[in-house]
Amino acid sequence: MSMAIPDLQDVVAEIADEMRQRVDRGDVATYIPELARVDPGHFGIAVIDAEGHVATGGDADTPFSIQSISKVFTLTLALGLAGDRLWQRVGREPSGSRFNSIVQLESERGIPRNPFINAGAIAVTDLILSGHQPREALGEILRFLQFLADDTTIQIDKAVAASEQRTGFRNAALANYMKSYGVLDNPVDFTLGVYFHHCAISMSCRQLATAGRFLAHLGRNPSTGFSVVTPERARRINAVMLTCGHYDGSGEFAYRVGLPGKSGVGGGIIAIAPGKASIAVWSPGLDESGNSHLGRIALEALAKRLNLSIFGS
Ligand code: GLN
Repeated sequence: MSMAIPDLQDVVAEIADEMRQRVDRGDVATYIPELARVDPGHFGIAVIDAEGHVATGGDADTPFSIQSISKVFTLTLALGLAGDRLWQRVGREPSGSRFNSIVQLESERGIPRNPFINAGAIAVTDLILSGHQPREALGEILRFLQFLADDTTIQIDKAVAASEQRTGFRNAALANYMKSYGVLDNPVDFTLGVYFHHCAISMSCRQLATAGRFLAHLGRNPSTGFSVVTPERARRINAVMLTCGHYDGSGEFAYRVGLPGKSGVGGGIIAIAPGKASIAVWSPGLDESGNSHLGRIALEALAKRLNLSIFGS
């Protein structure tokens, strides 16, 4: 049975071309000084169908800071370590608040709403760190991404990590607040160090789309045959991506694109079309919710032209 998407490369090239010409590009994140230096003119896209055909457009091979997209992979690792126990320290409901908001933490006694807002991702990182030195935990995360993307050249951008470490006062506040409720097990500085560094991993659209393939295919990479997670777990990670992957813009993303997705303030988005494709886009300018402006528009166009929405055509 062929699951190849007809005209995939044509559609992807067409969208890259349209995005290149747009003047509305959003604003690059400036609260991490190193990200403020990125040229907003970039646009990249990579789509990998069920048969492993790769279609790319624009800057698909330029590495960028994956930022919060890393949270999909730390969630996957943490579920592997703790199973459903993970849900004792982090919820799985959309927050309706900004990605770095602290308001809900007080009324919810230090338990973050979901693993994709910053507080939730810091709690997930803390779980991965337990029993390890920070350097080892970070190595686990990096090697997991290298394995999934089948590419050992993937690295951490040390300048981005240092930039965020220097200015990450709000994340430090979130972490200290959770620590006061006993939600974090490790020293706050250690947990934050690992968190900042996994957010600072650099990957291209092609590498990210490859790494996401297991989520599109019931937990298994159809090219290598390797099972990463069970079908049930893949389905559940996709569910959390759909409902929480774009913070307070998650409803809008589901409405317009109709795919599980995860954004990062570096301007990347990974999106999963179950059974059909793994997709990554990159455009550094962000919308008011901190999600890639053109990335979302490109995914909307792609989902529409290829009939990819999980909600039907
Ligand atoms: N490292 C970023 C932060 O903690 C991640 C945020 C994001 O990509 N939305 O602020």
